[in-house]
This record gives sequence, structure tokens and C-alpha cells, in this order.
Amino acid sequence: MERASQIKKLSDKGKIWDMVVVGGGATGLGVAVDAATRGMSVACLEKTDFAKCTSSRSTKLVHGGVRYLQKGDVMLVLEALRERGRMKANAPHLVKDQAFVISNYRYWDNFLYFCGLTFYDLLSFGFGYGRSKYISAKKVMKYIPTSVEKGLKGGVVYHDGQFDDSRMAINLAQTCVENGGTVVNEATVTGILHNEAGKVAGVKFVDNTTGEEYTVKARSVVNAAGCFVDDIMHMDSPEHRKMVTPSQGVHIVLDMKFLQSDYAIMVPKTSDGRVLFAVPWHDKVVVGTTDIVRPTPEEEPRPLKEEIDFILGTAGLYMNPAPTYKDILSVFAGQRPLAAPKKEGKNTKEISRSHK
Ligand SMILES: Cc1cc2nc3c(=O)[nH]c(=O)nc-3n(C[C@H](O)[C@H](O)[C@H](O)COP(=O)(O)OP(=O)(O)OC[C@H]3O[C@@H](n4cnc5c(N)ncnc54)[C@H](O)[C@@H]3O)c2cc1C
Repeated sequence: MERASQIKKLSDKGKIWDMVVVGGGATGLGVAVDAATRGMSVACLEKTDFAKCTSSRSTKLVHGGVRYLQKGDVMLVLEALRERGRMKANAPHLVKDQAFVISNYRYWDNFLYFCGLTFYDLLSFGFGYGRSKYISAKKVMKYIPTSVEKGLKGGVVYHDGQFDDSRMAINLAQTCVENGGTVVNEATVTGILHNEAGKVAGVKFVDNTTGEEYTVKARSVVNAAGCFVDDIMHMDSPEHRKMVTPSQGVHIVLDMKFLQSDYAIMVPKTSDGRVLFAVPWHDKVVVGTTDIVRPTPEEEPRPLKEEIDFILGTAGLYMNPAPTYKDILSVFAGQRPLAAPKKEGKNTKEISRSHK
């Protein structure tokens, strides 16, 4: 998949493509694979590199959304559980089973989380990973030796998947090309073309490596620009209503001594009502995340001090020794492209993750 050969396909000014996709993250590449495998002529244009933005900054979990179950969003969980199963079936080299331990400091929570997670297993019927089980406090210490032992009343083990988000994106790009699609990175969409009836009829883009401008005619244009969706909408119509609220999430990376296990930690209820994960990742531990609304999307989002403080503070309640600033090996931040709520000021963690 040589870039020069991909961009050459876009220089044919007379060609009308079935679809142009703006954005080469998980969404855009997924759409492009879908279109290509249906026999459509499709071109996916990415401004920087594939998965450079949000799609390489996730917690790397293939999950059914346990926390949405807490909110009673069963349909969303059902859909996500099916996707979780399909991802493992389609890309077993990138998706693996990951066991999580929820440590409980109240007897009641053993019962509550065991029942909830057994229901989660039942919902994934036919697409399941491992089965959930109750474990004693002694077993919690065996599975996660760095757990805070004082007051521990037991735990629940459940299973979700873990995947390599950036590699998944690259594999999607390769699959798209294998199926006759075209994908180009360093290609910034700068304008939308309209036909005489005022309907969208393609895009203009610039090859960032040469500065050359291209015009691509298309029967449909898919806006998959993540947090930058509104920038593309404004190219079409300056009056367009804001569609996306960027919600920032940060992870810190710690040494494996803070976990010493292949099991991951899941904290089901943090002080801000979210969940926190500490997951083994390439002999290190990734701990996160946060959920903070940002006024404008950023290509290189920067972690806020309050986010790091929150992660360290929450992790310290469950990890012994508690990690401190000097233990942080690296930090990465990403922004979720969440559907903007109609009512301003809604908390981003309350915004549904389902499609709009
Ligand atoms: C902290 C955090 C943790 C998460 N954890 C998980 C998880 O564990 N599991 C999970 O499944 N999901 C997780 N997610 C969600 C997941 O990462 C996102 O849903 C997904 O990456 C969104 O992909 P996207 O393609 O919509 O956006 P992006 O990956 O941001 O892609 C949009 C692309 O559009 C490009 N673009 C923008 N403007 C233009 C233009 N003018 N021309 C061309 N291209 C343009 C950008 O460069 C970008 O590459 C997490 C998200 C965050 C932030």
C-alpha cells in the first residue's frame, strides 16, 4: 500500500467516487472497509496519520460497556457485546481476553457486582469471553498482590477484551486497500464541493507532503473527522449546529510493580461517578481515565493537573504502594467525539455513547 500509488488514483479529475470518507481514525477506516467490501469505490482521506488522534489514545479495551449497564442502557450494552465478539472473531491477532478484578470493601458489593456481571455474561450469549466469578479476599490478594488489603471483603472477576487500537486502525486501512479501496494519510480536506442543486458532491483536499490541491467528486461524503466533525460541517454550511462535544480522557503509564499481575483492576465507582481501570500493557500498567468537557477540540490534547491528581488519588485507594507523580513514566490524552447534548452544560460522562 504505497502512498504514491494511492494518491495517484485520486488525481483522475473525471472520476466520480461512490464515497469519500473524511478522517482515518477507527470510525472513518471502519466505514471505508464497509464500503469497499460492498463493492463501492471509496477513498478515505486522513489529515495526519491513521489513528493519530483519539483512535490511538484509548484504554484499549474491547468492552460491552459494563458501566452503561449501571445506567440501565441495556440496548447499548447488547450492541457493544456483539461487537466485542465480532472483533475477536475478525481480528484474533489484535484482540485478547482480559480478566479484571473488582475488589470489594463491603460484603454487599460482592453480591451486587457478581449479579450484575453474571447478567453481563448472559447478555453476551454466544459472543462471550470468560465467565464472571466471585473470589475471596485471599484470592484477590493472590490475583492482584498490590491490592490494598485493609478492609478487603472479597472480589469479583469478570472478562472483557483488550486490543491494540493503532494496529487495528492500520489493519483496517490494509483491509480497505485489499478490497479495492483507497486510503491516503497527510491529506487534509479543505472544502466541500456542491452540485447545481446545492447538494454535497465531493471534497477538496491538500496533500500535506507536496502542498498540491486535489478535487475529488463523490456521490456521498462521510464526515468521520472525530472531534473535528464540526469543522467539516462548517465547510458545508457556516450555520451548522454544533454536533460534537469533545470530552477529554487521560491515562498515566506506571511500572509493572504497581500491578504485578496479568489481571487488570477495575474500580466500578470513583468519586466522580465513573470507572477507573489499571490494565497491563506491554509490561507496564495503563491507568485511567478521566472525562472532562473541553471547549474546542485539540490535535495534541494536554492532560490537566486535575486529571492526573484524580487518577493518582483514585488509584492510591486500591493500589499498595500508592503511585505518586514521580512514578509516572508517561501520560497520554485523547478526546472523545461525543454527540453534543441539546442542553448545554450536561456532564460528558452523562452523554450517551450510542449513535446519533
Ligand atoms: C480516554 C479515552 C479512552 C477510550 N477508551 C476506549 C476503549 O477502551 N475502547 C474503545 O472501544 N473505545 C475507547 N475510546 C473511544 C474511541 O477511542 C473513540 O470512539 C474512537 O477512537 C473515535 O474514532 P474516530 O475515528 O471517530 O476519531 P479519531 O480517531 O479522532 O479520527 C478522526 C480523524 O479525522 C481526522 N481529520 C480531522 N479533520 C480532518 C480533515 N479536515 N481532513 C482529513 N482528516 C481530518 C483527524 O486527523 C483524525 O485522525 C476511548 C476514548 C478516549 C478519549
